[in-house]
Amino acid sequence: MMRTLLVVEDNPANMKLISLLLNKAGYFVLQADNASDGLMLAREHHPDLILMDIQLPSMDGLTATRLLKADPETEDIPVVALTAFAMRGDEEKIRAAGCDGYIAKPIQYRSFLTDLQQMLETSRSGIDANE
Ligand code: MN
Repeated sequence: MMRTLLVVEDNPANMKLISLLLNKAGYFVLQADNASDGLMLAREHHPDLILMDIQLPSMDGLTATRLLKADPETEDIPVVALTAFAMRGDEEKIRAAGCDGYIAKPIQYRSFLTDLQQMLETSRSGIDANE
């Protein structure tokens, strides 16, 4: 079964690159260039995972993640933060908002796909363990 990933990213070049990589790897990609569209698509399609840019216009990615994790319909979707800044303390902030992991930008395409696959498997085994 094809996995669906939602990418929330306001930078068109990054969106293009990420979508290309994901499509090539066999994922179906939903795109949002702002947080509120992202929230809407998450509720509507319940993707297998969300890649969430942190710096977004109006609502930022951490606020959007908090909303996703507070909503029973979307709380179980793993959220992976896309962050240009990965300094000490940032990871804490990212985790505190409810993100399940983060990937640093610029994207390194090899580790990007490996990391994603690992996160999808981890979340899946987590779900299986609860059944
Ligand atoms: Mn951004």
